[in-house]
Amino acid sequence: MVPVNTPLLTGNEKKYLNECIDTGWISSEGSFIKRFEDDMTVYIGRKYAVACANGSAALDIAVRALGLGDGDEVIMPSFTIISCGQSLVTNGVKPILVDSEFDTFNIKIQDIEAKITSKTKAIMIVHLYGLCVNVDTIIALAKKYNLKIIEDAAQMHGQTYRDKKCGSFGDVSIFSFYPNKHITTGEGGMVLMDDEIIYEKSKGLRNLCFSNDADKRFIHEELGWNYRMTNMQAALGVAQLEQIDEIVVKKRWIGNYYNELLKDIDYINLPISKTEFCENIYWVYAITLKDSCIKTAKEVMQELGKYKIGTRPFFYPMHKQPVFNKMGLFLDDDLPNSEKLYERGFYIPSGLALTKEQIEEVSDALHKVLA
Ligand SMILES: *Cc1c(COP(=O)(O)O)cnc(C)c1O
Repeated sequence: MVPVNTPLLTGNEKKYLNECIDTGWISSEGSFIKRFEDDMTVYIGRKYAVACANGSAALDIAVRALGLGDGDEVIMPSFTIISCGQSLVTNGVKPILVDSEFDTFNIKIQDIEAKITSKTKAIMIVHLYGLCVNVDTIIALAKKYNLKIIEDAAQMHGQTYRDKKCGSFGDVSIFSFYPNKHITTGEGGMVLMDDEIIYEKSKGLRNLCFSNDADKRFIHEELGWNYRMTNMQAALGVAQLEQIDEIVVKKRWIGNYYNELLKDIDYINLPISKTEFCENIYWVYAITLKDSCIKTAKEVMQELGKYKIGTRPFFYPMHKQPVFNKMGLFLDDDLPNSEKLYERGFYIPSGLALTKEQIEEVSDALHKVLA
């Protein structure tokens, strides 16, 4: 079996984890937390970072820390992970969905402006599958209409937009450190910002909004979550971040080798290797089936499974999610590319532990399935 993802933990992960165990510092009070946060602020180019339990938790914190709530609208792509829509809906915010580009998978920027109303408070951008959103255009729109920006960079560790790191844009940015992301802590996430007030709010929200005043420790003015990260997770994070440059090189090597091996298959669109403002980082190796292919993504994935090749479907668009439709949300939305991406797209193994032989095995299987 070639699994869709296998992480690689070959740096100082074991050494730093042993330090946690040897010293007994395993909770969120341990020193690796601050070290991981500091290392990330330096690497990304931000003032503040708040490590937390996972990327979805980071989105929850981001939405609340920006003061978004009942009656507010936030513009976001329909084609993304549930965490984005969920962080808004559970905080009383109405997501306003925009379609995506079929070739870059990212939000169709030219469709945003028409959806801005007097209730619009923010734009949530999500860089997907390896290519980044055209950030300058988003920043210009946000300025024009006085909107906040949330940047979901969960799939973009190490990617740059022009010469600035993804995760350095907007009022708040977030990362996930799930094992299929470029760097992992098993489970983990982070919120980054440059504003001190948003930083203090985010720290409170992560930690049940306990009072900073020792006398009032258990007296709460607001509700938050226990979204703390453990010292053991942060220890992994510090070790992983030390290797980010090599990780990015390996990911691009995997992507480029697939590009080479798969370019003669007529029925598929390969991921775009380069845009005007970024080089693909191949978070995953994302393929779409051309209209000329009579098979659906589901059928191709099933057939690849028979050759023991792991795959994953693309995201299911927010406007089709039963959970949101049952709430009466998005019933009139018509976002054809988002639906087509789900019908026609899938991704193949691209984890950091993938070998050259495994890439060739995946390519052989794809050639047989799409012959
Ligand atoms: C993975 C991911 C998340 C959520 O991160 P978790 O750590 O799995 O909760 C959010 N947004 C995007 C774009 C992601 O890919």
